Amino acid sequence: MSECIFCKIIDGSIPSAKIYEDEHVYAFMDIMPLTKGHTLVIPKNHKENVYDLSEEEASNLFKVVPKIASVLKEAFGPVGMNLLNNNGAPAGQSVFHFHLHFIPRYDQTDGFR
Ligand code: 5GP
Ligand code: ZN
Repeated sequence: MSECIFCKIIDGSIPSAKIYEDEHVYAFMDIMPLTKGHTLVIPKNHKENVYDLSEEEASNLFKVVPKIASVLKEAFGPVGMNLLNNNGAPAGQSVFHFHLHFIPRYDQTDGFR
């Protein structure tokens, strides 16, 4: 069985607050949100980072980006949105299953730079 926490989130053995799911991708709320509505989107296939993603996996993931951003905009009412992806520990990656962060932004004092 996989030791990857995001694989466990996909298979349901670790609970998560789901935002979106289809055949290829899963989106859920970050457990330590940098701002209200901070969400992660991951491929269902375990791929460590951007270098390991196939074009098809990248395409399946990025094609739902506008939809997820719209859902978060509607749900939380941010005035901006950062999309962020860390690859490798020196770049700040702490979970080694590719993920794209959606960080809704509210104003200059929302605590995230
Ligand atoms: P990274 O630093 O790798 O770019 O981001 C990993 C993110 O995963 C962090 O923002 C962290 O809060 C989040 N995270 C780590 N473990 C869990 C978990 O068990 N559940 C959820 N929902 N998020 C997690
Ligand atoms: Zn995984």
